Amino acid sequence: MAAVAPSSPQPVQPAPPGPPLWLLAELTYQCPLHCVFCYNPTDYTRYQRELTTREWIDVLTQARALGAAQLGFSGGEPLLRDDLEELVAEAHRLGYYTNLLTSGIGLTEQRARALKDAGLDHVQLSFQDSTRELNDFLSHTRTFELKQRAAALIKAHDWPMVMNCVLHKHNLPHVDKIIEMALALGAEYLELANTQYYGWALQNRAQLLPTRAELEAAEAVVQRYREQIGQRCRLLYVVPDYFEDRPKACMNGWGKVFLSIAPDGTAMPCHNAGELPGLQLPNVREQPLASIWRDSQAFNAFRGYGWMKEPCSSCDEKEKDFGGCRCQAYLLAGDARAADPVCAKSPQHEQVLRIVRQGQSAPPAAPQPLVFRSNPPVRRPR
Ligand code: SF4
Ligand code: SF4
Repeated sequence: MAAVAPSSPQPVQPAPPGPPLWLLAELTYQCPLHCVFCYNPTDYTRYQRELTTREWIDVLTQARALGAAQLGFSGGEPLLRDDLEELVAEAHRLGYYTNLLTSGIGLTEQRARALKDAGLDHVQLSFQDSTRELNDFLSHTRTFELKQRAAALIKAHDWPMVMNCVLHKHNLPHVDKIIEMALALGAEYLELANTQYYGWALQNRAQLLPTRAELEAAEAVVQRYREQIGQRCRLLYVVPDYFEDRPKACMNGWGKVFLSIAPDGTAMPCHNAGELPGLQLPNVREQPLASIWRDSQAFNAFRGYGWMKEPCSSCDEKEKDFGGCRCQAYLLAGDARAADPVCAKSPQHEQVLRIVRQGQSAPPAAPQPLVFRSNPPVRRPR
């Protein structure tokens, strides 16, 4: 039998995307707090021409038609938008399961009632610590009591309450007190997510990064509480990526299920994508959402596996983690197509190990001051 000449390899086209199941509506980047680990972009002033109420309703309608089912109203502080109730009501009418991600500042009895009437399903309340001193220091505000009042309002209006506390070197030793506070406030779920190092947290990494021993001690406390309290409050503990040897499946895959809309209508496959070079980020003011999701350069840049370099492209774990986080690859390896350096197979993994080692050593005699997130004025069209 004659040998058949091998045909030249065809580029593998990613499969057409499924629906964007998870829509994150970042209503505003304004926030009364100034957290040192804030996940908003450090240059967020460039997103400040906020969408109007009508534009947001149009986005919610288009996303729902594409198949979005879960909707998070986030920010900044979404309660700063006085049209939040109207947006929640519209989202409810469209059939979304809605979640408000809030610092609690601005949640009054009147607004809580209006949000309940509008059909809000779920509230996630963030605390910075279990002590007033550290909560207020890390957010550069006096908000500890206000948050406790917000927690009481959430319970009084019969929402399932998810509390969230971002962990780092300063509050890891308080993890038992944070859990006790969540129990006392009646939280059904407590998310103890260690800081990931992007945006403002990256600027403060040297002051926030814990030691491995501190992380392990806190994890042991969490485990002890899990055994004691059972289902009364579910405790989620997320280790910082830097202490793992495989990356997380960031966004469950780029452009697979997650769609984030920045306050000015910029659409992103991840809320940090604006930090990546070379992406032509589309805007809902200029393009229908269906074509943004299916056809735009930004949403297709890291879909599938064709964009990958070695070691990811031939790795048998790529369907598990999709090569990790593109922002982390860019920030640590200087190449958004590289393997996430958190991965022990990455040629840049040593850099992560070095950062972790630096965190184990004694702090310098004159540590750098913490950088608090600052708030420029906003232009909000009506
Ligand atoms: S992390 Fe802090 S400053 Fe940033 S949006 Fe949340 S509450 Fe506001
Ligand atoms: S080499 Fe790439 S695909 Fe393989 S485990 Fe590491 S990050 Fe994931």
